[in-house]
Amino acid sequence: MPAAVEERDITGNAAQIHIRLSAVEKSYGSDTARVLALQGIDLSVRRSEFLSVIGQSGCGKSTLLMIIAGLIRPSAGMVAVDGKRVDQPLTNIGIAFQQDLLFDWRTILGNVMLQADVRGLPRAAARAKALVLLERVGLKGFEERRPWELSGGMRQRAAICRALLHDAHVLLLDEPFGALDALTRDQMNLDLQGIWAAERPTTILVTHSISEAVFLSDRVIVMSPRPGRVVAEVTVNLSRPRTIAMRDSAEFVVYQQLLRAAIE
Ligand code: ADP
Ligand code: MG
Repeated sequence: MPAAVEERDITGNAAQIHIRLSAVEKSYGSDTARVLALQGIDLSVRRSEFLSVIGQSGCGKSTLLMIIAGLIRPSAGMVAVDGKRVDQPLTNIGIAFQQDLLFDWRTILGNVMLQADVRGLPRAAARAKALVLLERVGLKGFEERRPWELSGGMRQRAAICRALLHDAHVLLLDEPFGALDALTRDQMNLDLQGIWAAERPTTILVTHSISEAVFLSDRVIVMSPRPGRVVAEVTVNLSRPRTIAMRDSAEFVVYQQLLRAAIE
C-alpha cells in the first residue's frame, strides 16, 4: 500500500488523510447548456473514517462519488487517494449503488465471486473470504440461492460483500438502502456497521436519511443545492457500536436537528 499522506490537524494530532479533494469543480454539458454540478469542494477523509454525504436531490452527491472513483474527471481541482492523484478509474475500491446489480443467472456466492473472476484473484482464497463476508451479514445458508429468491435487503448485503471481496480499502455507497423499507433498513445499518468495524474501509455513504447518516457516521457533510458545495459538517461523537435504541437518545436527536437545519 502506498504511504498515506500525513497531515497535522489544528489540534496538533497527526491525522492520516486517505482521500483528499481540493477545489473540485464539475460542470456538465457545453457552454450553451452548461450545468455547474459541483463547486469549490475541499474535503479530506481520514483512513477508516465513515463519512456520510447528505443534500437535496440533484446537488451533486453521485457526481462527487464518481469523481472520487475516477469514473468521471473534475472540470477543475484535484482528487488524491493514498496521496496519488486520481486520473483514471480506481480499481482497488468497492462501490455499491441503490440498484444492487446482481446477476440472476449467478448464485449469491457466484455474484460475490464475480469480483474475483473479473480481477483474476486466486479463487480458493477469494471463496473463503466471500463465505466469511456473507456470514458476517447474515447470509450464511443463502450462498447457493439465486438473487430473485432473496429480499431486497439481502440482495443489497450481497452487493456490499462483492464490493469488499478484493480487500477494498475504500467503500463508496450511493444510496444503497434507498429502496428498502424502514425495518429492513435498520437491519442493514446494523450489518453495515458490523462489516465496517471488521474491515475498516474508508467509507463514503450518500444517503437521503439523516438518521441513517448519524447512526453510521464519524462525520456527516451537508451539500447545498446545485451547484453543490459543502455547507455544513457535523462530527458525530456517539459511542460505538451504535444501537437502534440510541436513536431515541437526546444526543442523537440533537444531531438530527442540527443536520436538518443545515439542509433547510
Ligand atoms: P445527486 O446524486 O445529488 O442527486 P447528481 O450528481 O446525480 O446529483 O447530479 C448533479 C447535477 O448534475 C444534477 O442537476 C444533474 O441533472 C446533473 N447531471 C448529472 N449527470 C449529468 C450528465 N451526465 N449530464 C448532464 N448533467 C448531469
Ligand atoms: Mg445521486
